[in-house]
Amino acid sequence: MQYKFSDRAASLTPSVTLAIDGKAKEMKAAGIDVVGFGTGQPDFDTPDFVKDAAKKALDEGFTKYTPAAGIPELRQAIADKFERENGLKYEANQIVVSCGGKHSCFNVMMALCQQGDEVIVPAPYWLSYPEMVRMAGATPVILETWDETHFKVTPEQLREAINENTRIFILNSPSNPTGVVYSPDEIRALGDVCVQQGVLILSDEIYEHLLYDGAVHKSVATCSEHHQAQTIIVHGFAKAWSMTGWRLGFMAAPLPIAKKIAAFQSHSTSNPTSFAQIGGVAAMTQPMSHLPAWMTEFAKRREFAHARLSECKGLSCYKSEGAFYLFPNIEGTGLKSSEFCARLLEDEQVAAVPGIAFGADDYFRLSYATSMEQLEKGLERIERFCGKL
Ligand SMILES: *Cc1c(COP(=O)(O)O)cnc(C)c1O
Repeated sequence: MQYKFSDRAASLTPSVTLAIDGKAKEMKAAGIDVVGFGTGQPDFDTPDFVKDAAKKALDEGFTKYTPAAGIPELRQAIADKFERENGLKYEANQIVVSCGGKHSCFNVMMALCQQGDEVIVPAPYWLSYPEMVRMAGATPVILETWDETHFKVTPEQLREAINENTRIFILNSPSNPTGVVYSPDEIRALGDVCVQQGVLILSDEIYEHLLYDGAVHKSVATCSEHHQAQTIIVHGFAKAWSMTGWRLGFMAAPLPIAKKIAAFQSHSTSNPTSFAQIGGVAAMTQPMSHLPAWMTEFAKRREFAHARLSECKGLSCYKSEGAFYLFPNIEGTGLKSSEFCARLLEDEQVAAVPGIAFGADDYFRLSYATSMEQLEKGLERIERFCGKL
């Protein structure tokens, strides 16, 4: 049987991350001591106060359908978060709770983009962005950035990329995979370009709380009412509450967009899991008492990993100020990222994600969401590997 796929599925490419991950898992299963730097999630457990709330909800029988855009209590708690932490006013009906930040990004693309539309995606990018744009039938326009300029798109670069087909600019700060955080002035300058040109901004702020060295997060929606009217904020529980498996995220948008996306969700996934939403209410309404200890640990690992990477022959590493990633440059090794990572795994049993997966072939992504012991072992191996090239 010859199966015929839709254009949207036929153009999908399998994830490079998964290939490396699959190989690493195979090696581990065979008893090989693999050090994994590929992970995109915190290595901490979900805080107890969140788990307890969800357990109680289960025990009390909160196991049925909820409104598709989320329970009113959670939508209100999220609106309150935006006011409290960001000084942004949203009504509860402007918040749509989803099955993860990824799900919200997907819904935004499907509801707002189609054939002929362009979406501007700065590289290095989170690997799902361009794929989602393509699934919506639109065209991703990639803006390249480099470590010398701290992986930041300039307002001039953005202005030049915009034409009458441009619908959305994707802004992700702090960034996955680089960890880069745009300053408030830089955020405003990019937002101004979008406002002047009538381009929507998809602002993925999932790493909002993971900042180092005094870096501050500014949401582009806070720049003015005009900015807010053109911004869709995507956020979630996965990173700062370590809830990746719960599949719970949210977005905040101008009311017509929120309503359309709620309708979209009502005919696709329906509501995010009922009792997970109760965990979400706990996360949104209780103090983030777990976070300082996590950040102390992340900060320690970041210092260590950055210092060790900088000592490796042929590597140079920009010390980015957010998330839990470093994105070292490998040009000095003479290898491109796929070969670098494949050989690193083969020769030294260290798994890291090649930059080409993120549209940047002269880099690799190191996640420090792993123990100090693993970091020490893995970085010693990377240093040995680079020394022999
Ligand atoms: C982890 C992540 C998300 C959201 O993940 P979910 O598990 O779907 O909530 C969104 N954007 C970026 C850049 C991420 O790294």
